[in-house]
Formats: sequence, structure tokens, C-alpha cells
Amino acid sequence: MSTNVYVGLGSNEGDREGRLVAALEALSRIDAVAVLRHSSLFESAPVGPSQPPFLNAVVALDCGLSPQRLLTILQRIEHDLGRRRDGVRWGPRPIDLDILLWGGEVVADANLQVPHLELHKRRFALEPLVELAPDLKHPVLGVTVRDLLIRLAPQDVRRLSATQWPEARFLEHDS
Ligand code: ATP
Ligand code: MG
Ligand code: MG
Repeated sequence: MSTNVYVGLGSNEGDREGRLVAALEALSRIDAVAVLRHSSLFESAPVGPSQPPFLNAVVALDCGLSPQRLLTILQRIEHDLGRRRDGVRWGPRPIDLDILLWGGEVVADANLQVPHLELHKRRFALEPLVELAPDLKHPVLGVTVRDLLIRLAPQDVRRLSATQWPEARFLEHDS
């Protein structure tokens, strides 16, 4: 059985766009996972401790793995792309791969919560997600991601023209 899964990508260290492209390629190589669509690139001011701005995007996957299995693979990809956990949460990082939504399911494990617990507060995740699938319903809050975005206070997030990131494929007729 496969599920529509949405993964958020972020980078604010080194070659940010190169890292996002490498992550997209790594995702497309996972067995039992197909990358269906990807958003545009967005640049966002950091939330929390002062640090460089992020590049963000969201990808839609058709995923035949369990949530825990995908999480393990995402963490391996993060490691391969230079991510080292030094105990500073929300510090600068070359790559961050977070599972945002797992179909309409809720995962509440000790090490994995889906929907991502901060999704509804984060414009840098919701803007690209709404590009891909505005009518997706948040399974806990019961409203669409479009409505979550509308309710959100302004945050410094803007669409960026890409040089390496492939042109977004998110329109109905493209999928
Ligand atoms: P945030 O989760 O607020 O975006 P972060 O992405 O910087 O912070 P990480 O250091 O990447 O946090 O991950 C910390 C832990 O979050 C991981 O070890 C992982 O077990 C856990 N985690 C819980 N839910 C998720 C999720 N939906 N996607 C990815 N990791 C998750
Ligand atoms: Mg994160
Ligand atoms: Mg993370």
C-alpha cells in the first residue's frame, strides 16, 4: 500500500540550493518511493536564534514504506549531505528533511509526530505545500492547508527564482 507523503526540505548553510537539489535526487532514488511533484523554491528568514536565511521547498511522494522507515532514510540522506547533530536544535544546517503529512494519518511515536507539530505555524512549510496541494486537510486540525496559510501571521517568506532546482511541477495537468 502506498501513501501520499509530503516532505519539507530546508537548508541554510553552504550551497543551499545544491543541497536541496541533491536531496531531491536522493529522494527519487529511494526504493518504493516515487517523487510525484515538487514546489518552487522559497527563501525564508530564520525563526528562533539568529542565523542565515533558509531555502525551503516541499516534495510530494508516493511512499510504500512505513513512517519509521522513511524517517530513518531521511536521516541517512541528511547525514550524507553533511548534517551533523551537535545538540543545537534549530541551529544552521546544510539540510533538514521533515515529514509534514502522511496521507490523512496521524503518527504519534516518541521520535516521530505527523502531521509535523509546527506545520500550521510555519509559512516556510505551508507556502510550498499550498502550491502542491491547497485542498489537503490537516488530519488533526480538520482544515485545509490553504486555510491554515490564510490564518497565519505574516512571516518573511518569498518565492525565489532557481538556478539549479528544477522548475516546479505542481499544476494539476502536470501530474
Ligand atoms: P523541527 O522539527 O522543529 O523542524 P528540526 O527539524 O531542526 O526541528 P531535527 O534536529 O531535524 O529537528 O530533528 C529532531 C528530531 O525530530 C528527530 O530526531 C526526529 O526523531 C524528530 N521528529 C519528530 N517528528 C518528526 C517529523 N515529522 N519529521 C522529521 N523528524 C521528526
Ligand atoms: Mg525542521
Ligand atoms: Mg528535522
